[in-house]
Amino acid sequence: MPSVELDLGFEALSVGSLETFKELMIGHGALGSAGEDQWIAATGLSELQKMHLVPLAFGLMPPNLFQIPNHPFRQVKPSIVAHLQFHNADATDVELIEIIKHICDHYVDCVRDPARAARRKSGMRDLKANRQLYDKVMTRQHGRCSLCGVLFSSIVHETLDHVIPYKLLGDPPDALNWQVLCNECNGGKAHYISALQSPEAWNWIYGQVNRDTGSISQELRYVALSSRAKCARVGCDNNAKLKQMHIRRSAGLAAGIGILWNVEIMCEDHLI
Ligand SMILES: [Zn+2]
Ligand SMILES: [Zn+2]
Repeated sequence: MPSVELDLGFEALSVGSLETFKELMIGHGALGSAGEDQWIAATGLSELQKMHLVPLAFGLMPPNLFQIPNHPFRQVKPSIVAHLQFHNADATDVELIEIIKHICDHYVDCVRDPARAARRKSGMRDLKANRQLYDKVMTRQHGRCSLCGVLFSSIVHETLDHVIPYKLLGDPPDALNWQVLCNECNGGKAHYISALQSPEAWNWIYGQVNRDTGSISQELRYVALSSRAKCARVGCDNNAKLKQMHIRRSAGLAAGIGILWNVEIMCEDHLI
C-alpha cells in the first residue's frame, strides 16, 4: 500500500516531529508522573494529531525488537542508541531514549503474554474504584465524553480510553494516559486505530471505497470529532466541554460520499 501524504486542510500535523512526540509521551506519563504543565502541553494537541504521532513509536523501536520478539531483550538501550544513530536522530537525547525504552519494554511485555496484559489493563471499573482519581478525571472533562461532549447518564455509559494505546504506554500514574469516552467515540477510535486509516476512515483514498452516500460511519464520526474541536456555526465557541456536539452532513453538500469535508460539527444549540 503506497503511503499517502494528506493535505488535511484543517490544521497542520506535526507528524515527524520528535519534539512533539516527546512532549506527547511525557505528558501522558511515559516517564512516570508528569507535571500539570507537561500534561497540558500534551493535551494541547488535538486527538487526531495525537493519533498521527502514535505510529512514530513503531519507527523508533529498534528493529531487533520485532525480529526476535521471544528472545530475552536485554540490550534495550544500546539497540535504541544504534537505531537513532542509524536514522541520524539525536542519540544523546536521554529523555527520548528513556521514552523509547519504556515503550519497548511495555510493548514486548504485551506481545509475549497477551493474556496477562489484558488482565492488567485498567478499565472503567478500576478508575471508579479510586474515587479521588475518578473525580479528577471527570472534573477535567466537565462530566462529559471528552470527544463528543455528551453528558454521561444511565443510558450513556462511561468507558475508559487509553489516550496513547495501552500496548505502548500502559497505565502510567495519576490517570495521565486516561480519558473517559462514550461507547460510540471509543468504538470509533478503536476501529480507526486498529486499521490505522482503513479505507472507511477517509473513504475516498482507494477509489473503490464508496459504499455509502448518505450515512456517517462511526469511524468518520471519530475522525471528524477528533480533528475539529468546536461548533461550526460562525461565532459559536461551544465545544465538548460545554455542550454535546453532533455531526451532520454539511448544508449545501447533501450530495457526495461521506468524507470528512462533507460533514460538520454543530453544538446542540445550533443543530437545527
Ligand atoms: Zn462521545
Ligand atoms: Zn454552536
